[in-house]
Amino acid sequence: MDFQIPKHVKKIARRVREFVDSEVVPVELELLKSGEELTVERLQELRAKAKAAGLWAPTMPKEMGGMGLSLQEIVPIFEEAGRSLIGPLAIHASAPDEGNMHLLHMFANEEQREHYLAPLVRGEIFSAFSMTEPPPGAGSDPKMLRTTAVRDGDEWVINGHKWFSSNGEVASFLIIMALTNPDVHPYQGATMFLAPIDAPGIEIVRDVPTMGGKDFGGHVEIRYNNLRLPDSAILGEEGQGFMLAQARLGPARLTHCMRWTGIAQRALEIATAYASRRKAFGSRLSEHQSIQWMLADSEMELHAGRLMMHHAAWLLAQGEQARDETSMCKFFIAETVNRVLDRAVQICGGMGISRDLPISVWYEKARAFRIYDGASEVHHSRVAKSVVKKYAAIDVPVATE
Ligand SMILES: Cc1cc2nc3c(=O)[nH]c(=O)nc-3n(C[C@H](O)[C@H](O)[C@H](O)COP(=O)(O)OP(=O)(O)OC[C@H]3O[C@@H](n4cnc5c(N)ncnc54)[C@H](O)[C@@H]3O)c2cc1C
Repeated sequence: MDFQIPKHVKKIARRVREFVDSEVVPVELELLKSGEELTVERLQELRAKAKAAGLWAPTMPKEMGGMGLSLQEIVPIFEEAGRSLIGPLAIHASAPDEGNMHLLHMFANEEQREHYLAPLVRGEIFSAFSMTEPPPGAGSDPKMLRTTAVRDGDEWVINGHKWFSSNGEVASFLIIMALTNPDVHPYQGATMFLAPIDAPGIEIVRDVPTMGGKDFGGHVEIRYNNLRLPDSAILGEEGQGFMLAQARLGPARLTHCMRWTGIAQRALEIATAYASRRKAFGSRLSEHQSIQWMLADSEMELHAGRLMMHHAAWLLAQGEQARDETSMCKFFIAETVNRVLDRAVQICGGMGISRDLPISVWYEKARAFRIYDGASEVHHSRVAKSVVKKYAAIDVPVATE
């Protein structure tokens, strides 16, 4: 077992850290102060700087303009980018584009690569992944998919209602999950389609207002009203929708964990700095044992989370599906990040609640991480089922028997 992070990875991670500190954090703090949102123009300025620094699209191949890094290599790099919510956007490593690029890179045909993937990798356009539906449609249980695509001659006619399609306000195209064969199990009867956002039949209803304020690109509600798409709009093959979703979600869950670990780490650093300077009851906060425990718990949990990420990324690199390990990772890190942010707010007192520090924003925004890409309870029960399957039949002596 080798815990060494390769030198070239450490070097890139350091450069990403420097870029985030010098270019991204000042923009983040300015926006925090003014209460303004990040605009596409402002983001493109940052992106131009990231490209010039050679820090662009870490997971995409070099010949496409990316850095050609593997899932294992990006663990510390995405964490450094994730020290600011804007960092991953700036270096083109943010959700949902990063997961969508990965998906298209694996399954798009030549024409789709040229039309959608290439400009997406170059950062000329944005994308959205449209799977979740308002109740009673697909949410935690994706089998409840109600959006349909029905064949009509040589076209598909899509009807349905989705929401929380992140980036929908800025996206040039959508990846839509729809049921193409209601007569088989949804896992074999769903298909992914690629559609330009301005195609007739796509109605952007609204951006769903969310806790923590607006995220770049929004989380839009969409109605598909007789959206007509040709066969060539299918990503992969008809009936492969869930197989593709799984291929996207495994690594995408890990990259979310990497980015959020970055925010939690920065929050821990801010909380430690505050506790080391602020005095109460005759000593520094950092000298009170209950504060020390909070800091130590955050450090230990983040350390454990990092090891889990490295392990899950390594398993995926071996070609394993690592479903249990990615579930454990997503569950543990989503809960950890929320706990670390909660402790950081607590340690910083009124300052933690104020918008003078970014941790109050992160605290609110991180809450969704326990819900998207599989709610904590869903991952918890997956792991529980696995535990019972693995261990229940083992013949170990039970004391009461
Ligand atoms: C900020 C944000 C961004 C998002 N981005 C996208 C996106 O880009 N594209 C997209 O398609 N979707 C996106 N989503 C949607 C997200 O994937 C869903 O919210 C998530 O899958 C949960 O589905 P739901 O909201 O319908 O909750 P529900 O399915 O209604 O579940 C509600 C709650 O029930 C509990 N629960 C569910 N199943 C179980 C179980 N088996 N055991 C115990 N408890 C359970 C959990 O606590 C869960 O939080 C996003 C969501 C958010 C908040």
